[in-house]
Amino acid sequence: MGKTTNNGSKKPTVGIMYFTSCGGCQCEILTHANLLKKLVDLVEIKYFPMGSSNNTLETDFDIIFIEGSVSTDHDLELLHIARERSKILVAVGTCACFGGVQSSKNAESSLNEMLRYVYGDKIPTVVKALKPKPLKDYVKVDYELPGCPVSGKDFVLAVQYLLNGLDPFLPKMAVCYECKQAQTPCRLQASYMCVGSLSNAGCGAPCTFKGLGCYGCRGDHEDPNYKELVKLFRQKGYSDRDIYNFVKVFRGNYVREKLLPYLDLDIPLPEDEKPKEVN
Ligand code: SF4
Ligand code: SF4
Ligand code: SF4
Repeated sequence: MGKTTNNGSKKPTVGIMYFTSCGGCQCEILTHANLLKKLVDLVEIKYFPMGSSNNTLETDFDIIFIEGSVSTDHDLELLHIARERSKILVAVGTCACFGGVQSSKNAESSLNEMLRYVYGDKIPTVVKALKPKPLKDYVKVDYELPGCPVSGKDFVLAVQYLLNGLDPFLPKMAVCYECKQAQTPCRLQASYMCVGSLSNAGCGAPCTFKGLGCYGCRGDHEDPNYKELVKLFRQKGYSDRDIYNFVKVFRGNYVREKLLPYLDLDIPLPEDEKPKEVN
């Protein structure tokens, strides 16, 4: 715990870190200035490089929030420091929870293939690249706040829940419910690709409201029916390759296990995803 509040009790210490990401989740948090002001009254923010020039990791934290996937050795080093020094670790945004868009090729390409595709023979050596993975692949994550970007309002609410010793509340239902609530016409019925029926709600379905299909940035709800959705997409005239390419955007780290069994596609397991032989 850090500085004291008006009634003399210690303020909980909070850190907001970022790994490989676009910074959009931190921007979303920063745009909720009024909510943030309330938050700053409740906690002492000791580490938030995007929001402050006064940062330290040389302390214990009550809660650390992390945006971004683990995609470099530096990310991984920071993740272990964060886990060691924080009582509660929260993954913020789809990159941190599931790997994000940067992991969309993980099911079909090795890291080496991806690096060669982008850099040719001049692969940078400033940092060691790792295959983009969610935080939970390396350490225990206490809570996940998915979304691309995370909702700033969800973020502040989650802090309030955690400070009161409660689990942050996230809905467990399909995005379709939110379309129905908003009376948004179904994009899938109009033959758009949409994975809202697989995906966790809570966003208010802004994409379908704007006339797009849902890419499912908040990850799967508890009982996603991939098999039936594949049938529906095929009925709408989409090829198995179209289906795979759409679904993998936010599901690169689990599309092989959850979707591929229902598709007639032969996608070889990348070299670095094969189980290591034990001698
Ligand atoms: S979840 Fe989306 S908005 Fe947040 S850092 Fe990743 S890509 Fe950016
Ligand atoms: S548009 Fe997508 S998310 Fe909305 S009801 Fe149709 S299938 Fe569900
Ligand atoms: S509608 Fe789908 S893609 Fe859009 S914010 Fe919601 S979950 Fe994400």
